[in-house]
Amino acid sequence: MNHQKSATLFTQAKRSIPGGVNSPVRAFKSVGCDPIFISRAEGSRIFDADGNGYIDYVGSWGPMILGHCHPKVVEAIQRTAASGASFGAPTEKEIILAEMVCEAYPNIEKVRMVSSGTEATMSAIRLARGYTGRDKILKFDGCYHGHADSLLVKAGSGAATYGVPTSPGVPADVAKHTLTATYNDLSDVNNMVAANKGEIACIILEPIAGNMGCVPPRPGFLEGLRQLCDQEGIVLIIDEVMTGFRVAYGGAQERFGVRGDLVALGKIIGGGLPVGAFGGKKEIMEHLSPEGGVYQAGTLSGNPLAMSAGITTLQLLREEGVYEQIEEKAAYLEKGLLEAAKETSVPTCWQRVGGMFCTYFQQGPVNSFADALKSDTDAFGSFFRAMLESGINLAPSQFEAGFMSLAHSRDDLDATIEAARKALRAI
Ligand SMILES: *Cc1c(COP(=O)(O)O)cnc(C)c1O
Repeated sequence: MNHQKSATLFTQAKRSIPGGVNSPVRAFKSVGCDPIFISRAEGSRIFDADGNGYIDYVGSWGPMILGHCHPKVVEAIQRTAASGASFGAPTEKEIILAEMVCEAYPNIEKVRMVSSGTEATMSAIRLARGYTGRDKILKFDGCYHGHADSLLVKAGSGAATYGVPTSPGVPADVAKHTLTATYNDLSDVNNMVAANKGEIACIILEPIAGNMGCVPPRPGFLEGLRQLCDQEGIVLIIDEVMTGFRVAYGGAQERFGVRGDLVALGKIIGGGLPVGAFGGKKEIMEHLSPEGGVYQAGTLSGNPLAMSAGITTLQLLREEGVYEQIEEKAAYLEKGLLEAAKETSVPTCWQRVGGMFCTYFQQGPVNSFADALKSDTDAFGSFFRAMLESGINLAPSQFEAGFMSLAHSRDDLDATIEAARKALRAI
């Protein structure tokens, strides 16, 4: 495959953009090659500046569950753009999307729109602190909740990929309020809470950890957190930025039957445009300005273009059988990849929930960030590069999830399995 134009663009980008990219993992640094620059996408495929096509399992890191450029979403954005891109004043579209979110998540009685997942979790934490009058928060090693200061402590995603889970620039005085526990380890959480009794405002977690690969909650983990939060007056924030409308229309909370007090959303609710949201119990949400005193605002919050892309995406996801289709495609891919893996001696461990998945290059199982770190990232790098050369676009890190879209065809999945068979043999 020729990557000449991508290489030239990357050289040029590095002159004016830090690292040549506007979000770190896009740089491909951890997989030992240069990034491809994308010029367009359609359905299950993206195309780079050199005209190469790839079957895409990144889906813009989650939002593109319908596949790229769904004609109805494109049409909605175009139609809305023609009547004004932004007003900084309320619009009817915001109500429509808010009602759709409340309907999908029965524990969300009120919801505030923002422009990214980062803003959603950051604001939910401020609200939990304002509501409880407590400063400390508890998160899990390897969970990523965006790049707000208090959450860049033992974080996943790019922070894990580049070995700086706790970022320089986060003052110790801020980080000291962030407690961290081991994912899937209730006794660790219990100890933490006992040692900080009456001081913890919230526990925030990814209900399926998708920023250290794909780590499902062990049976009883979410239930145990729910019970502990009820006992201790702690706000449970379920970060469904990745899993919301992904593993079910009602997210991981629908799938596992455990509900948060506050919920963060993002990615799919914007249909590829910048949207985040946080919502929850009325009793807590009423503390938000202008009803209450906890301040939160945004010039582009509830932006009409983003609202129309989100509304249209959710309307399409509400159609009969959508999540069954995603499940069926992902299960088909799983079966083929497991067979391909059996034919080699490379240790791999596949983990999946619905349409999100990951292959760890180790025996597994992976239940925590410490487990994920046991992976052979060099082997992953070789696999990633071989897949890319065969026209398969995976997330360029061992510590990220892959995503199935409605646009992936049986032929796409067969081609992916065949490419994986070749790539595994070459490691
Ligand atoms: C992507 C992600 C975020 C951050 O969302 P941005 O839109 O990138 O700011 C937060 N939480 C989770 C679980 C995510 O996957």
